Amino acid sequence: MTDKNNNMASGDSFKADLASICGSAHVLDGDDIDARYLRDWLGKAESHPALVVRPPDTAAVAAVMRLCAETKTPVIPFGGNSGLAGGTVAAAGQNILLLSLERMNQVREMNAAGRFMVAEAGCIIEQLHAVAASESLMFPLVFGAKGTAQIGGALSTNAGGLNVVRYGNARHLCLGLEVVTANGEVMDLLPALKKDNTGYDLVNLIIGAEGTLGIITAASLALVPPPPALATAMVKLYDLDGALTLMNLAQAESGGRVEAFELFGRLHYELCAHHLAHVTPPFDEAADLAVMIEISAGSTDDATIGDDGTLPLATQLETILAKALEAGWISDAVVAKSAAQRANMWAMREDVLTAMMAHGKWVMNDISFQVADLPAAIADLDAAFRAVAPGLYGTAFGHMGDGNLHVCARPYDKDPADFPQEAAAIKQAVRDVVAKWRGSISAEHGIGTDKKTDMKAMKDPAAYAMMKSIKKALDPDNLLNPNKVLI
Ligand SMILES: Cc1cc2nc3c(=O)[nH]c(=O)nc-3n(C[C@H](O)[C@H](O)[C@H](O)COP(=O)(O)OP(=O)(O)OC[C@H]3O[C@@H](n4cnc5c(N)ncnc54)[C@H](O)[C@@H]3O)c2cc1C
Repeated sequence: MTDKNNNMASGDSFKADLASICGSAHVLDGDDIDARYLRDWLGKAESHPALVVRPPDTAAVAAVMRLCAETKTPVIPFGGNSGLAGGTVAAAGQNILLLSLERMNQVREMNAAGRFMVAEAGCIIEQLHAVAASESLMFPLVFGAKGTAQIGGALSTNAGGLNVVRYGNARHLCLGLEVVTANGEVMDLLPALKKDNTGYDLVNLIIGAEGTLGIITAASLALVPPPPALATAMVKLYDLDGALTLMNLAQAESGGRVEAFELFGRLHYELCAHHLAHVTPPFDEAADLAVMIEISAGSTDDATIGDDGTLPLATQLETILAKALEAGWISDAVVAKSAAQRANMWAMREDVLTAMMAHGKWVMNDISFQVADLPAAIADLDAAFRAVAPGLYGTAFGHMGDGNLHVCARPYDKDPADFPQEAAAIKQAVRDVVAKWRGSISAEHGIGTDKKTDMKAMKDPAAYAMMKSIKKALDPDNLLNPNKVLI
């Protein structure tokens, strides 16, 4: 895409204009820019914004954007900076303005009767969990970075996470948006309408656009009643076909109330056991393959502890697992007997990335396949990784219920940067397997800078051309998160 973005009004007058909009304490440059704005979460890339601004409200975001449109200043929307695709990274020498939504952190409306809330873009996901819980409701978007990621960023990357199998990803939980456009207009699509067939679906166009089509300033979010009880288990399996059969059995027997179905290969299990001091792995010996399964109660009866001290829902899960054991699909299982045991299992799952980072750097990929293709696709990935180089690799890990794998490798168990040829071969192997099975090279982390070349090479050409046309139409001067997502 042509880069016309080198015209930021330089010097004091531009900064003074921004200060009059945001307050001078919230317009930063030079050494005043805090280190947290200058790198991505993985520490893979340094970021070089010329300025950081922190507008207090939607009107200020629109005013900043109008100023940037006049001066042809490129803008990167900045949320919790937990994205894993380099979406917030500002290239050096391009006079980029980082627009942080962090001050816009109010829940504007909590509508318990209508089961939705209207939250500003800078609200942290965990904050939204707490607000929903205060009205005995639940906002079911949960992932490892929930204490850092903002709802604006989560929607912009269409984040998924741990409960997508039950509630869908961020897109499915969003009923409306308020968006500031490239020319500084405010587009109000906030009403929490479950049905609205008036023309193109602009809410869903902005979701997942990674800040390249507009800046999300607020969102109407769907809330659900929290399940009256949950039963959770870690299960050892013989193979992936068994995992798929177990998942389908659990869906059938629980009436579709599988809340999570997360796959662990031996590598990830052992990394957690080794690096996470706060976690006690449920099995002494790691299995080659394990899943964490959680089901929810559909009635208060299932959630009421009986006179014998047992929870009917836990008995239901044990019955499902006993059937699977008898059929020879699983070899062992531990059902959580207390809230603490359940929290321990979840800590193990949610902190896997921390355990991986404690070990070192990895070639990482976030890919997806049709769920039924997973066993064969994982076998292909295993074979391909083995052929590249000895070392650590893990292919069977991630959100199995959604067909989403987080595959990773360390050639010779060393930093991939020291073995660029092998690292490139691993990435190529992943692309080949994804292409063979018609999967996706980015299941939930987005494209950012990291995957834009892959996407261009692998996306249906007509679809790619349509995306380019949309970007050109909505942001003709390429001001919004330039050089991300598209080439
Ligand atoms: C430990 C860990 C675990 C994770 N687990 C998961 C997981 O299980 N599932 C998953 O899907 N992701 C996961 N992620 C990725 C990450 O948390 C998500 O991508 C997150 O949703 C990004 O939100 P953020 O506020 O941090 O956005 P940022 O990182 O700040 O931004 C991400 C992108 O969105 C754009 N953006 C940010 N805010 C706005 C806005 N208001 N309007 C328009 N564009 C905006 C940015 O320009 C950038 O392109 C994980 C990350 C970490 C660090």
